[in-house]
Formats: sequence, C-alpha cells, structure tokens
Amino acid sequence: MLIALLKGKLIDAAYAERRRDYLCPACKQSVGLRHGRQVQPYFAHRAKEACTVFSEGETQEHLTGKRQLMAFFAPWGPITLEKILPEIQQRADCWVERTGKQPAALEFQCSPITTEQVTWRTDGYREISAYPFWILGSRYGRQKLGWSLIERFATKLKGWGLCLLFWDVARQELRVDHHLAQDSLGVYVSKTTWVKTLAEFVAGSHVLPQVTLDYWGWRERLARDLRQKQSGVLDIQEVLYLAGHHVLSLPKFLHTKATTLPLFGRGLLLWRAVLVTKLFALPTDFITTRVMNDLAGESFTIVGGHPEAVWFTAESVLPLAQANLLALLTTEGYLEAVTGGWRVCHQPKWHIN
Ligand SMILES: [Zn+2]
Repeated sequence: MLIALLKGKLIDAAYAERRRDYLCPACKQSVGLRHGRQVQPYFAHRAKEACTVFSEGETQEHLTGKRQLMAFFAPWGPITLEKILPEIQQRADCWVERTGKQPAALEFQCSPITTEQVTWRTDGYREISAYPFWILGSRYGRQKLGWSLIERFATKLKGWGLCLLFWDVARQELRVDHHLAQDSLGVYVSKTTWVKTLAEFVAGSHVLPQVTLDYWGWRERLARDLRQKQSGVLDIQEVLYLAGHHVLSLPKFLHTKATTLPLFGRGLLLWRAVLVTKLFALPTDFITTRVMNDLAGESFTIVGGHPEAVWFTAESVLPLAQANLLALLTTEGYLEAVTGGWRVCHQPKWHIN
C-alpha cells in the first residue's frame, strides 16, 4: 500500500520517513515503511494476521501502476490513492471525483481474482453509485483473449463497444482491446488500440476488428475434439447424429459472417445447426412460439453458451440470433410464419459441402 495513517492523518509513502507508528488506514494495525534502491517506497503490515481490506504481497507493478494511473486519469478531477470505502468494506486503488458525473473507481488488477470476487466488488461500487474500471496488469495482458477474461472484465464503454482495459507499466500506456465479439465459428475477435492520453481514451475508436472466418481451422479443431471425445462437442454431435447428421458437414445455408456478443460458446453456426436439427426433428409440422423459444434456449446450452457475464447478459442476444435464423429459414422456404407459430414446409437438405 502507498498510503498509511500517521497520528490520524494520511501520508503517502513517497514522502514518509522511517518511524514505527504508521497504521493501516483500513484495519488500524501497525504497518512499516519499506524501500530500497530499486523499489519505490510502500507500506506493509507488520503483523501476520490478515487485513480485511488490503491484501499483502503487492507487486512493484501494482504499486507503480497505481501512481501512473493516478496521473493518467488526473484530467477527470481530484484523485485519491487507495480510497477506503468503509460502507462497502472495499478499497479502490484510485478514486476519481468527477464534477457532475458519477465517481470512478480504478481497480488495477495484477493478482488472480475469481468471477465471484469481481462480481462482489463491482456490485459494491454500483451500490455507492461509483463506476468501476477494471484495469488489468501484465498477468492478464499475456493471456489469450477468451471467455475467462471476457466473463470477468469485459465492459461496454462509449466509443469502444465491449472492451478490456490493460495498463502497461513499462510503456505507461493504456491498451484497449475493443469491439470484442465472437465470429460464427466461435472465435473471439477484438481490435487492440494503445492509448496515450485520457482524451484519446474518451474519444474511443471506430476501427473494427477484421473478421476472417477460418473454416479449415474450425473443422480441424472439431475433428480433433471429436477424436478426443471432448464432452462439449460430443453433446452437439449427439443431437445431430440422432437426426442422421454430422457436425463436420453442416448445410451451407446456415453459414454466416454475422458476429455475436462473445457469449455463444462454440459459436453461432453450431447453435444454428443444433436448433435447426431439433426443429425439423419434431413429430409435428406446427411449431409454437413457445416450443421455438425453448429449443433456442436448449440449443444455446448445448453449444456451451453463457447466459451472463459480470457486465452483460445473453438476454437480447439470443432473441436476435433466433429472429435472424427464422428469417433465413422462411426466405429459404423451409418454414412459414402462421398464427401462433411456424409451419414446416420442407426439410432442409443436409449434405457435405
Ligand atoms: Zn490493514
């Protein structure tokens, strides 16, 4: 930690001298000043007993990054380092008071954290009407873009779409991985932009990620997962197999260049394939809206779809994907909209492309 209590007043480690009566501002236990040639000064608890608010083992990256972020966000208004928020039992790495706007809490996340912890802390900030920015350290910056990062940290920001924020201590720049999406083959896509100033961050970017569907790579992965009996892909194959289909030979008309919010598990294409298989295997040629919605939801689960992340849900995504698919099936002449649902006109051809 960078801030301690001395005789009832907060003091920054950068201006502190060695003495023995510094206290942790959160738990009021004794803390000592540490510094060396290479490391910037910081405070650490003396006692081994756990502090309720500050976790020990803070890295130099975390200590340095906090100060850099403080400078980066300074144009927004007065910033407090390590703001203690007793009402929610939390401590923000930086706290920005913004005139006429809700305060921003900056969390510079360098250590491991679970989804539950992120949800809990995010909800805490919402409770006191603060907007939390989760800004990720190098541990996360090295990770491949995937569900684990997206679930916990992806947020929608004006000008950036759904995005992840990283702070690079060496470059002293903010990395924004923005317009996060998933292509129809389930591949996560994003565009990376490095931001040097807060003004650039506020401005956003209109450069969208390139989406190039790699069918060959997708088939390779599916074939491998089938060989290795990977449970997710077996669940999908089982549905198709019972209708006499195979996961590696999907009807061409189902293919799409559309992207989705990154909640679709193994992707929009397989979801379409599972749903179409289920629809046309029904022992009736009349499908009610209710049955349609249920099957769409079941298919979403089968392809490993995620109902929600910390910051967004599939609530609007699934109906949209469903509407698009139904429009396609109608245009292709397989279904016809009738009162209360849909009538099956004829079975789609299912053959190897
Ligand atoms: Zn403490």
